[in-house]
Amino acid sequence: MKRAYNFNAGPSALPFEVLEKAQKEFTNFQESGMSIMEFSHRSKEYDAVHEKAITDLRELLHIPNDYHVLFLQGGASLQFSMVPLNFLSPSRTADYVLTGVWSEKAQDEAEKIGKTTTIASSQHQNYTFIPNMTDIKPSHDSAYVHLTSNNTIYGTEWKHYPTLDVPLIADMSSDILSKEIDINQFSMIYAGAQKNLGPAGVTVVIIKDELLKNSTENIPTMLNYKIHAKKNSLYNTPPTFSIYMLSLMLEWVKNQGGIPAIEARNNEKAALIYNCMDESNGFYTGHAQKDSRSNMNIVFKLPTEELTNKFIAKSKELGFIGLSGHRSVGGCRASTYNAVPYESCEALVTFMKAFMSEN
Ligand SMILES: *Cc1c(COP(=O)(O)O)cnc(C)c1O
Repeated sequence: MKRAYNFNAGPSALPFEVLEKAQKEFTNFQESGMSIMEFSHRSKEYDAVHEKAITDLRELLHIPNDYHVLFLQGGASLQFSMVPLNFLSPSRTADYVLTGVWSEKAQDEAEKIGKTTTIASSQHQNYTFIPNMTDIKPSHDSAYVHLTSNNTIYGTEWKHYPTLDVPLIADMSSDILSKEIDINQFSMIYAGAQKNLGPAGVTVVIIKDELLKNSTENIPTMLNYKIHAKKNSLYNTPPTFSIYMLSLMLEWVKNQGGIPAIEARNNEKAALIYNCMDESNGFYTGHAQKDSRSNMNIVFKLPTEELTNKFIAKSKELGFIGLSGHRSVGGCRASTYNAVPYESCEALVTFMKAFMSEN
């Protein structure tokens, strides 16, 4: 069987080894005569999967002991509401850095709950860059600063993060586990799984105890981080199969040599495609400014819309999946998440070069 060259933005490619392992265990998990899906979420078998996912994530990201690791549902989008519900009190302002559609949505949800302000933005330049660190100044009554570490639609990514004396909260849905980060810089990180962590259905939340201590009381139980932390994400039935798949993904990352090895490979993969663009004499132009380029989502266009459409049509014929840009930016987008093999990127570059010389 030939695997597709899958550049989907999300849900996206999963490692073949992970799919194979899941297939092997699908109907008979550890000689139990059952699928992992059929176990109680209170069983010792499922509990081992749940704990392994937490332990492996802690190990891979060097998560300190004073942080909780939660597995929630509702996607990254529910976090847009849960963050202000838990941490924005009436006497405070929530600060947002706008670097794309997802950060706008996060602020829009918070605005329904309390007072927010935009402290830095690249909206006026069509989200082509990440604001300067020195421009990130929290409000005097700031509850927290929220940022989006990788902008899936515009293809920009933060290279470093501001050091602040207020809680920093990051939506890392599309670059978590792609490179080394210092968890201590953040009070909270969240990520929907379907880009770098596994299939859709689970959202990882990493949250510092100190932030949790001051969260709002008397909010709906299912929206209350404190309850989920206290119950180890087992207050109600968690998405057991998605968490199982997450645990296989984490095991795979460990087998690849952990985040340093993954990061090195991601750099190589992205460089391959960016170099091809840079050496194309303007045939392929990137959306992001060079110093803000994302290693996860590579957004570019061709000289005319007609050529862009032709490029996408031809790519489909050759077995490339997911190269159309998001409708709000147009052009093309290649998402090169952790599970996208180097060979897929090589194949894409070969196609890009051939298409350029033919056109
Ligand atoms: C995909 C994505 C989201 C939305 O995630 P859902 O799980 O669909 O809610 C939010 N933020 C970023 C940065 C994303 O890439």
